[in-house]
Amino acid sequence: MLTIGSHMSIADGIAGAAQNAVEMEANTMQIFTRNPRGSGYRACSEKERERFDAIRRENGFGPVLAHAPYTMNLASARESTWEFACMVIREDVARMDALGIENLVFHPGSHTGIGVCAGIENIIRGLDQGITGRERITVLLETMSGKGTEIGASFEELKAIRDGVSHPERVGICLDTCHVFSAGYDIVHDLEGVLEEFDRVLGLPLLRAIHLNDSLAPFGSHKDRHAVIGEGQIGMEALLGVLEHPRLKNLPFYLETPLDDGGHKREIRMIRQQLGEADPVSGA
Ligand code: FE
Ligand code: FE
Ligand code: ZN
Repeated sequence: MLTIGSHMSIADGIAGAAQNAVEMEANTMQIFTRNPRGSGYRACSEKERERFDAIRRENGFGPVLAHAPYTMNLASARESTWEFACMVIREDVARMDALGIENLVFHPGSHTGIGVCAGIENIIRGLDQGITGRERITVLLETMSGKGTEIGASFEELKAIRDGVSHPERVGICLDTCHVFSAGYDIVHDLEGVLEEFDRVLGLPLLRAIHLNDSLAPFGSHKDRHAVIGEGQIGMEALLGVLEHPRLKNLPFYLETPLDDGGHKREIRMIRQQLGEADPVSGA
């Protein structure tokens, strides 16, 4: 069965988010590690942790994905910005690992003018503060659209980051379908070629999660504009090709489309129906 969920609010806590995901007929979810625009977070009690574990166990959840805040820029040349990002990655790798969350994804960052190489060096030094090598969690680098001075729009840049860290065995990749498409990887006409390229540069075993999004912006535009599945420039057929690909279909998929929980619930059901999976509501 497909492992799919969407990005969930943690306003009701992490167990509340998991329960809301179950009600959406999802069997995984993505959550922010903390307030995405600020820096605050609420500690998770032992009781809540137990409830989170029980919900995941009883509903056969696949790997849960935690997403670091967007305000974090490990590539930054500005000392205070970089120090903040280092603090976030140190705390969040440890906090998410302690919750038994399988993967933590973050945007590599924007170099804001110092150049790709210097930016990548900053990212590597930051990751080395956060990853001790003793954790079970895997830190995922997200493929980016390449807007502005964003790092990570090419597989080669992601490879350079992974190769540079002290514990590369704890670092994997999260592929965002919207971002790779707008970065210029043609998953619509040549998914096979894109996956071959990924395999050649990074190795497909490093791919641990997929952000499943359609794209409002056209191919190669380097614009990051998510669209509802089937309503963008990638389209339903190509996204079904991703979902059904033998090398991808067992990965966890996370929707980040511009819909609320009710909309995501319908989107998940529509995807399962398109894939010919039994409707979990009717029990058929
Ligand atoms: Fe992201
Ligand atoms: Fe994403
Ligand atoms: Zn995006």
